[in-house]
Amino acid sequence: MRTIAVANQKGGVGKTTTAVNLATALAATGKRVLLVDFDPQGNASTGLGIGHDARAPGAYEVLTDPGLAGDAIRETMVPGLSILPAGQSLAGAEVELVGEAHAAGRLKAALARASGFDLAFIDCPPSLGLLTLNGLAAADEVLIPLQAEFYALEGLTQLLRTVEQVKARTNPRLRLSGVVLTMFDRRNNLSEQVAADVRAALGSQVFATMIPRNVRLSEAPSHGLPALLYDLKCPGSEAYLALAREIA
Ligand code: ATP
Ligand code: MG
Repeated sequence: MRTIAVANQKGGVGKTTTAVNLATALAATGKRVLLVDFDPQGNASTGLGIGHDARAPGAYEVLTDPGLAGDAIRETMVPGLSILPAGQSLAGAEVELVGEAHAAGRLKAALARASGFDLAFIDCPPSLGLLTLNGLAAADEVLIPLQAEFYALEGLTQLLRTVEQVKARTNPRLRLSGVVLTMFDRRNNLSEQVAADVRAALGSQVFATMIPRNVRLSEAPSHGLPALLYDLKCPGSEAYLALAREIA
């Protein structure tokens, strides 16, 4: 199983939108995909139409008992896409795990019990706390969504440093799968400028595909649907299909 953590400690940059739609796009190519909602906000679960009363057992429960992974992972309405959902209880994990042995290795242990998947995406929360560290420890790759706005590069250094630390200490195989620019607005000079700066700084680590700012991407979750199912032909869906091809 190839596992990709979608991470950025900055909030609202498009992590969940990217995780949900990439997972859907890759499931559509025939891959068996697991989406791990690893954010107590539970946005990825909402985006796939999983009700709040249907989220346990979920990510929290498998952190406490990896043996529950089989029960916690369920199919979604997207053929080939399963989800490990997250409820509010996950917020407690961060506090409860502190000081415990192998606190950052819990998700990895749980995913080792998830069989039958080609690919997994982990939707990390907007922090560099224990949940994100679990996500990075369980992953082969980290995918970083970066919003095409002025402060985009601030915080990236710290995130890349954290990735290097996880790599040195616990997960030597971790690598950067790439940075994807999100909410790109072609009519906005600043967006173009930021994209040029990011490419100058990170070169080939930046995916060629940029995700445009597209209202259809933000409407889809309110219908409990990935954008690819809500409106396959919108520019946002087309961009995620292109990104999925780069990743595959
Ligand atoms: P958080 O840090 O809170 O987990 P996030 O990084 O997961 O946030 P999203 O939830 O994916 O970010 O996106 C933040 C908001 O922006 C959401 O309302 C989402 O629908 C919207 N959004 C994301 N990408 C786009 C886009 N390309 N165009 C328009 N709206 C977008
Ligand atoms: Mg999110």
